[in-house]
Amino acid sequence: MADVSILKCPDYGEEKVVQIMNKLLDSVGLDKIRGKKILLKPNILYASQPEKAVTTHPSVLKAVIKYLQKNGNTIFVGDSPAFQNQDSAGSRAGLKQVIDECGATWQDFTQTATIPAPEGRLVKSFQLASILKDVDIVISMAKMKTHSLMYYTGAIKNLFGLVPGLSKSALHLRFPDRDNFAQMIVDLNLAVKPDYAIMDAIVGMEGPGPGSGYPRNVGLLLASDNVLALDLTAARIMGYKAESLPILSQALESGFWLKPGEAINCPLEKAEDLLIKDYRLIRHLHDASMFRDYMPEWAFRLVKNLTVKRPVFNPKICKLCSECVRICPAKALSVQENRIKADYTKCIRCYCCHEICSHHAITLKKKVF
Ligand code: SF4
Ligand code: SF4
Repeated sequence: MADVSILKCPDYGEEKVVQIMNKLLDSVGLDKIRGKKILLKPNILYASQPEKAVTTHPSVLKAVIKYLQKNGNTIFVGDSPAFQNQDSAGSRAGLKQVIDECGATWQDFTQTATIPAPEGRLVKSFQLASILKDVDIVISMAKMKTHSLMYYTGAIKNLFGLVPGLSKSALHLRFPDRDNFAQMIVDLNLAVKPDYAIMDAIVGMEGPGPGSGYPRNVGLLLASDNVLALDLTAARIMGYKAESLPILSQALESGFWLKPGEAINCPLEKAEDLLIKDYRLIRHLHDASMFRDYMPEWAFRLVKNLTVKRPVFNPKICKLCSECVRICPAKALSVQENRIKADYTKCIRCYCCHEICSHHAITLKKKVF
């Protein structure tokens, strides 16, 4: 049986977060980890202030660093925002200041190493941040959020940030199909084998996450030594069913984190007492992949073009920063006549542009149906 510890935490007041985090981390056995090198991987999608709920909150990171340092552990913290400088994104999120204040090491992910994934179904090795070779323990520090492509993002998806910068786009292009992309994320986690997961769900994100959604007071902190058990519990609290979430259903199928039918125990707060009925979830986008086996490629592309939501660019809001153009793995975007133009025949519907547009100038809309 896997354990997921949950405690209520009403806000980001530092003293309160420390007090609750100490209890939470004791309960998952982190008090026994001493003298180790530990990598903490918060979610720094892009430069965004903490109150926007895009990034893991600095109070949460600070409480975890302080807790681990008490036992003589050496702490590294890093993430690789898709296109922005790590320092400016980390500073805007308030995380770099915490790292400096605590004397932890702010880790640059630009150096990569080959990390094998022998159990991976689609990918047998990844080029990931080389710090993974030097640390004893990896902790995914996720934020509870919706995700327009994968519906939910938590501790497992958070580790995609170990892929440096724009190399993420290459993986989107290589795995344009949602299920294959999900399997690639699972393979990446099979390569890294994160030791613990901690989730900042004090304020989560609902609606069109992971970057353009709305903050939602949830008032919870979660921790586990089982990354999948934590994600399944968080997703359940939000109102998702595991089988509807491509990453979680494929992680379950792998049998690595949970055996078939294995239960999840919540020794502190009980998940069933915390279920949220009105969390604004991602409505499942019409997925054209079911037609792939039944029609020629040109017809499939037409169906996909018409029925799967596509990014639509609002020129009144767009600041023409071109960040979407740079990140687009399919090279489907360009600036023409002072507006963003999309070539929908090239667009693979990965929604990277929607994810990183911090000005919220992109919405996802179906053409028909
Ligand atoms: S749509 Fe967003 S990311 Fe793209 S250029 Fe406009 S403001 Fe920048
Ligand atoms: S336009 Fe947006 S959704 Fe389409 S491929 Fe480019 S980044 Fe992905």
